[in-house]
Amino acid sequence: MIASDRTEAYQIGIAYLDRVKSALPDPQMVDVISNIRDRVSICNWIGTQIEDVNRSLQIHVNACDECFNLGDRRSIQILAVPFASFVQLDGFCNINNEPTTILVDVGRVAPADWLALVAHEYAHAHLGYPGHDLKYAQVLSHLCLGLGFAQPSLIPDDRSIYCWPPYSPSIDPLAWWRGEG
Ligand SMILES: [Zn+2]
Repeated sequence: MIASDRTEAYQIGIAYLDRVKSALPDPQMVDVISNIRDRVSICNWIGTQIEDVNRSLQIHVNACDECFNLGDRRSIQILAVPFASFVQLDGFCNINNEPTTILVDVGRVAPADWLALVAHEYAHAHLGYPGHDLKYAQVLSHLCLGLGFAQPSLIPDDRSIYCWPPYSPSIDPLAWWRGEG
């Protein structure tokens, strides 16, 4: 762990956090700086690793793209982000951002489950509106079929759709962002 705020990596980390905040409807959804204990290690870790992480996430978006015809694909960017603890979501799709932006807290989900989280948010991005109606379930079902996940229930008001495909949450999301993952 690098314990200095004078590194280039730290500055890259700070700039990255500003970038993801501007892609969110509420910048307070990201709050690393007030975390006195962890901010140095988190920013240094972001500064050295975030490009590799986002590249991996983009590969998952590309896999989702493959499930749709070229003309039906939207322009989507994806960014990893450490959400503040009050944020109850592991992923968020900002359909009002140009391009449509998926933000996922990769610390809250094991790498093996990143694709599940990306697929869930991708279905929101594809439709261009929030909510988990029948149309959403159908798009997600199509994605699940293509990506090898079990398909979601199409029964109206079945709440399992809110966290489909299912995965187990991480116990300590910030540990991953500190580079201990
Ligand atoms: Zn959702």
